[in-house]
Amino acid sequence: MIPVTKPYLPSREKLDAYIDGIYERSWLTNNGPLLKELTKKLEEYLGVENILLVSNGTLALQVAYKTLGISNTGCTENAEAITTPFTFVATASSLQWEGVKPVFTDISADSWCLDPANIESAITEKTRAIVPVHVFGNACDVEAIDQIAEKHQLKVVYDASHAFAVNYKGNSLLNWGDAATLSLHATKLFHTIEGGAIVFKHKADLERAQQIINFGLAGPEDISGPGINAKMNEFQAAMGLCVLDEMETITNNRKQIGQSYQRELRGRVVFQKWNKHGESNHAYAPVLFESETELLAVEAKLKENNIFSRRYFYPSLDNLEHFKSEQVCANSRDIASRILCLPLFPNMTDEERSKVIKVLMK
Ligand SMILES: *Cc1c(COP(=O)(O)O)cnc(C)c1O
Repeated sequence: MIPVTKPYLPSREKLDAYIDGIYERSWLTNNGPLLKELTKKLEEYLGVENILLVSNGTLALQVAYKTLGISNTGCTENAEAITTPFTFVATASSLQWEGVKPVFTDISADSWCLDPANIESAITEKTRAIVPVHVFGNACDVEAIDQIAEKHQLKVVYDASHAFAVNYKGNSLLNWGDAATLSLHATKLFHTIEGGAIVFKHKADLERAQQIINFGLAGPEDISGPGINAKMNEFQAAMGLCVLDEMETITNNRKQIGQSYQRELRGRVVFQKWNKHGESNHAYAPVLFESETELLAVEAKLKENNIFSRRYFYPSLDNLEHFKSEQVCANSRDIASRILCLPLFPNMTDEERSKVIKVLMK
């Protein structure tokens, strides 16, 4: 069986050594030493400042909205944020959970990221933020989005869940936006079992968010505001330290597989048009077919061969009843109906990769 993805498991001895330390200290969570070590190492590895580790990527988004004043606090009604319909559902549901209506505008048919040309006409007096996604690690048109946000005084939160360690014009892509969030879930490129992170532009926001994720506590007897529990624990941090130590293997492996798909399947499928200023981390292997009919046939053929692909991202979120979208996003619906993510994980064998390619070329 070839799964679409497989969590990366680092050296067991390395992990055991960290866990021995946790047992010796009896310090399991609440800003422990492993959490501090991982925070520092990630800032160095990614080339960012003001990073906050949290318990998962969905809470990373919610805490970012709360910290930046995007969330609806109940004082006003109908706060809105402009976002993409072509993403994992958590991008939009996290907004809805914070009382903010996701307003979907269409993606570019080539890059599959939010098209800046569609954003401005969707801005109303209720709009508070733009929440774009660097989908599959492909950098959005960050300069154009920045300009629109500045002109209309909007916050920008990038859902950068797929963009771990992606550089843009030589610097971390995570440095764009008032905040950029990561998911560190087991199936993501770098993981802490469950986990997430927020990179803030301003240190003051980081400091506020540190309190927000710890019940709003500013001190043992000082409750500064309504907070939540979104802390990362020491076992998660231990896993993160071990995986981070093996990133070179992970990235080299992924690159080899991703590039091999691109070479071998050229002409057979269509690939995402990559932002020429952004790197690729080969977090996913999405391919586009000519029609949904063809996609379904390929998906079935793969399954017959015990190979599991996944329809990422499907359906387009503007289709979902509970988001009550007024916009119909034609490009997103079209891409969503024809896209398939192929198996891609670090220790995938050459034999497995050839098998996938062979079925697709048949
Ligand atoms: C995985 C993912 C999330 C959610 O992250 P979790 O860590 O699973 O909560 C949010 N947005 C995108 C684009 C994702 O791929």
